[in-house]
Amino acid sequence: MPRRTEPPADMLPVEEALARILDLVREMPAELRPIREATGQVLAADVVAPFDIPPHDNTAMDGYAVQAADTAPAGADVDGEGAAELRVIGELAAGYVYEGAVGPGEAVRIMTGAPMPSGADSIVPFEETDETGLQAPGQSADAGQRSVRVLKAARPGANIRRRGEDVRQGALILTRGLVLRGAEIAVLASMGIGAVSVVRRPRVAILSTGDELLTPGASAEGEPPAPGKIYDSNAYGLAALVEEYGGVPVLSGIASDTVPALTAKIAEAVAAADMVVTSAGVSRGDFDVVKEVLAQEGEVRFWTVRMKPGKPLAFGRFSAADGRAVPHIGLPGNPVSSLLAFELFGRPALFKMQGRQVQARPVVTAVADEPIINTDARRVYARAIVDRAADGRWHARLTGPQGSGVLTSMAYANGYAVCPAERERVAVGEEVEVLMVDWEHAPD
Ligand code: AMP
Ligand code: MG
Repeated sequence: MPRRTEPPADMLPVEEALARILDLVREMPAELRPIREATGQVLAADVVAPFDIPPHDNTAMDGYAVQAADTAPAGADVDGEGAAELRVIGELAAGYVYEGAVGPGEAVRIMTGAPMPSGADSIVPFEETDETGLQAPGQSADAGQRSVRVLKAARPGANIRRRGEDVRQGALILTRGLVLRGAEIAVLASMGIGAVSVVRRPRVAILSTGDELLTPGASAEGEPPAPGKIYDSNAYGLAALVEEYGGVPVLSGIASDTVPALTAKIAEAVAAADMVVTSAGVSRGDFDVVKEVLAQEGEVRFWTVRMKPGKPLAFGRFSAADGRAVPHIGLPGNPVSSLLAFELFGRPALFKMQGRQVQARPVVTAVADEPIINTDARRVYARAIVDRAADGRWHARLTGPQGSGVLTSMAYANGYAVCPAERERVAVGEEVEVLMVDWEHAPD
């Protein structure tokens, strides 16, 4: 059994760190966006129906608009024996209005969506007449020169979509705070609304720090980095997460570990963004000037959070030249810690900035197929693959080595299996809660 060390008393629980961060972030202002460009954004104001939908009674079927009373004698005889015979007085396609009226003994041939002609009170579908319904427009009989046999008595109101049955004028149909998906956008379009008030997406500046970092793509593809150097993976992973969480990433590049370089880069980042995310330089390293510069340039606090990986975290605010308060999250440098901490703290912060309900990820209870060891009383987030086993239960296995530098452990995971801070281990066969971050990769 590995030796277990107790954490310092001032170490913050994850929930407490998150509460403090959420306390300092504010919702972005609203903006008017064309509906075509508003997918995934949050509605900033309630939407009330400007008119009824459908705007008029209309037919739900291709067929004949009739007076139901005329079809009463219609029998179920397949040959049409005893069927009601009506005079076809005209034809109406969707998109037009029938100028005349349907009188007793008359019918108007009508296509789905066309407004009900006055006088008619029901629609007889082609299938219930002696017409197959396959004539092309123009091949049907001229008005007054043709008749149709109705094979089945029509019920008054049959096959009519009533004005306002979907939405009543003045009704609240979409409420502030919901995320626009295809269905909501379609509702807006159906009301003729071309642009909508949504919460602006937050721009998130992402700044990497460290003399060891190289920009991927700077040297020939597949080249290992120069001695002592590594490629900057945090900025790219974080940018992708910012996008996934609804923000707009702004890559601010790499700041070297000198005070002037870092000061200049931070000023640039603050000017460009609604939130600044830095990575590295928040732990106890001797050469990290990040802490010094952050403390100088903004009100920033340095925390240790009771989680593993990802213990060190900075959070605070910078003041932009134009007076805006720009929140800052200082993530740990180790790539796994950095991405995990951004999932746990950055995602809810970005959601709040977008006016979204702060939604926790779904949690499944799974059977641990591998142990999770907790050596120092922090909450462990083990990268796991969750799938349903032959016994019908969810099972969690780990993605291999769990070091905070082992990025592939993140890439192969669809969830994070949680060993609570107060437990020393989750043993094989015990239940474990798994925070699911990617259900799409969870096989059934
Ligand atoms: P630090 O917090 O500066 O001590 O960094 C911790 C570890 O994370 C070191 O091994 C760094 O090289 C590594 N690291 C820092 N920034 C990045 C980055 N942007 N991409 C990949 N690894 C990084
Ligand atoms: Mg460093």
